Amino acid sequence: MKTNKNTTNATLNRKFEKIARECLFIQTLRERGRDCLDFHEVSVLAIREAFEKAYNLGLAAGRKEMEQALSTPEFVHRDDACPKCGERNVDKLIWADDHRVVCAACGKTYKP
Ligand SMILES: [Zn+2]
Repeated sequence: MKTNKNTTNATLNRKFEKIARECLFIQTLRERGRDCLDFHEVSVLAIREAFEKAYNLGLAAGRKEMEQALSTPEFVHRDDACPKCGERNVDKLIWADDHRVVCAACGKTYKP
C-alpha cells in the first residue's frame, strides 16, 4: 500500500489530536498563537495515559506493517525466474547446495 507523506502526517495528526482530546482534554494540537489556548495544565497521570495510547498506536501500526510485509510475496528479478514455468516467488524457488535453484512449482532445477 502506498501512502504519501502528507496523508501520513494528516492521519498521524488526527490520531494525536484524538489522544489529546481523550486523555488531556485538549481540543487541538494546532498552535493558535494565544497562551490561554496553547498552554495547558494537565496531570502527570493524563500525560502517562496519552503516552501509553500513542505507544500502543505505534506498536499496532508496526505489527500491521510487519503482517503486510510477511503476507506479500517477494519476487526475484525476471532474469532469475524459473525458465520452465516463469515462477518468481522467492518462497517457491529453493537454493540447492550446488548453486542451482529448484522450482517448487514445476520441479525444474536450473542455474540462475
Ligand atoms: Zn518452475
